[in-house]
Amino acid sequence: MILFSTVFYSEAVAQEVSIFPKGEISATDNNTGIVWLKELNVPDSIFNLSLAHATFAPGAKLDWHIHPAGQYLLITEGTGYYQERGKPVQIVHKGDVIKCLPGVEHWHGATPETDFGYIGATPTQKGRTIWLKRVNDEEYNTIKQKQDVSSVSNKNAEQEIIDLSKQKWIWMADKNVDSLNALFDEKSVFVHMGGSWGKAQELSTIKSGGIWYKKLKFTQL
Ligand code: MN
Repeated sequence: MILFSTVFYSEAVAQEVSIFPKGEISATDNNTGIVWLKELNVPDSIFNLSLAHATFAPGAKLDWHIHPAGQYLLITEGTGYYQERGKPVQIVHKGDVIKCLPGVEHWHGATPETDFGYIGATPTQKGRTIWLKRVNDEEYNTIKQKQDVSSVSNKNAEQEIIDLSKQKWIWMADKNVDSLNALFDEKSVFVHMGGSWGKAQELSTIKSGGIWYKKLKFTQL
């Protein structure tokens, strides 16, 4: 009963945010994960263009494919990935317009955490979409791994600067000019209320006690 309510609720929410009908869950073998598809028109000899509304559950994606006459994607919902063969994965958002040139191998789908939807406008005069390989996990996770790595290395760099900054104040308070000599760049300029000078004078002033750096307690940086 609880499961039923949950499913019913998310279905109701999806209907509310979607401008175009969500359609049926795609039964084709051209995707992984859950993809809903609704054809919005029937291409004919006057309008050689297929318009379709596609909705992806988080983690769902199409296989690599080619549109012989290209494709426009008008992103209507959420955040997704778009990648052309040989290029990095792009993150695309609601409101973006993606142009995929004729014959270019590519794939598109939701991110692992977000819903994703678009209207695909696909010219039909050169024939149907050519479906290729599945998008493998390595390809799909490239961007997520990059984000994870950069957030870890940013965090490490930030902590390193905080630690070094704390250490510098301790060295100054302790008049530890040998450590400061290694830390300060040769071209450093030190700006004080009494004037500005270079590294050698700063170190000798610290050593002599001419500038007294208090022992600070660091609570927040
Ligand atoms: Mn496509």
